[in-house]
Amino acid sequence: MLADQDSLIDGTKLAARVTAEAAKKVAELKARGVTPGLTVVLVGDDPASAVYVGSKERTCIELGMNGETIRKPATISQDELVAIVDRLNADPAVHGILVQMPLPKHIDPDTVVRRIRPDKDVDGFHPVNVGKLSIGEKDGFVPCTPAGVLYMLQASDVKTVGAHCVVIGRSNIVGKPMASLMVQAGVDSTVTICHSRTRDLAEHTRRADILIAAVGKAQMVTADMVKPGAVVIDVGMNRIPDATKKSGTRLVGDVAFDEVREVASLITPVPGGVGKMTIAMLMSNTVRAAAQQTR
Ligand code: NAP
Repeated sequence: MLADQDSLIDGTKLAARVTAEAAKKVAELKARGVTPGLTVVLVGDDPASAVYVGSKERTCIELGMNGETIRKPATISQDELVAIVDRLNADPAVHGILVQMPLPKHIDPDTVVRRIRPDKDVDGFHPVNVGKLSIGEKDGFVPCTPAGVLYMLQASDVKTVGAHCVVIGRSNIVGKPMASLMVQAGVDSTVTICHSRTRDLAEHTRRADILIAAVGKAQMVTADMVKPGAVVIDVGMNRIPDATKKSGTRLVGDVAFDEVREVASLITPVPGGVGKMTIAMLMSNTVRAAAQQTR
């Protein structure tokens, strides 16, 4: 029974630590005449994307970086979007480029992501960066959410070496890069990746010392699926109906938090957990991109 404050991994606090580290590096870069710059391209008017992009822009400004957002209507053609990426690739004041997903159906996201210069791909989705993560080359960019999760584990002194880590989800954005990070030398976990075709999911999750849920299914990980004393990281962000809220919904993770915190030794809340880390790691990647490009 470990349901006290000590069992919580506080994403807000850790994200503030990462952004403070980034702010220090921004000041160092500015002292040598470089202002790190992140440009986000937002296509269409998806409300969730607009919220993410708004907070990315705000955080850049707070840290003293250049944070520009290029907003384009959903009718933009793929060629026009690629031309914007080409212009940003060539602009020395832009160190990081991020094209906000999802894109309208007539645009192929892979074509756009592959067009971004790998050394400006601060989202870490370009195949060159995916490959660098896979072979353990450190000068690439790791996708921000998995990078944030690893930071949380390490900052919380979680023993990853030899631990059995079970990742639920195999997306290119979270699950797969998360698994790559956990298995890399130095982190040294033994990794199991589960997905929608996995037989008897609970049989796998119950063997996890570190359980990472990145599924997108509200509260699907229940207490009986978790080994007592496990560390549980909840990447999920799902809206469920809640009549007590003005919006009529509330944000929950993939983990049934109230019951799982009773068996876990450490757990991340939603909100206030992994979500806070993603933007912080994006800032950290952008600052490193600026440093690498201006060496
Ligand atoms: P995704 O692309 O939809 O991938 C979901 C994964 O979960 C897939 O691999 C899918 O398997 C697997 N899955 C679905 N149902 C399952 C089940 N019943 N049992 C086992 N596995 C199952 O989603 P994503 O982009 O990775 O995001 C996952 C969640 O994280 C979402 O809630 C998203 O909002 C959240 N997220 C949060 C942040 C953050 O900053 N906190 C960032 C990114 C994403 P298949 O491959 O077989 O379909």
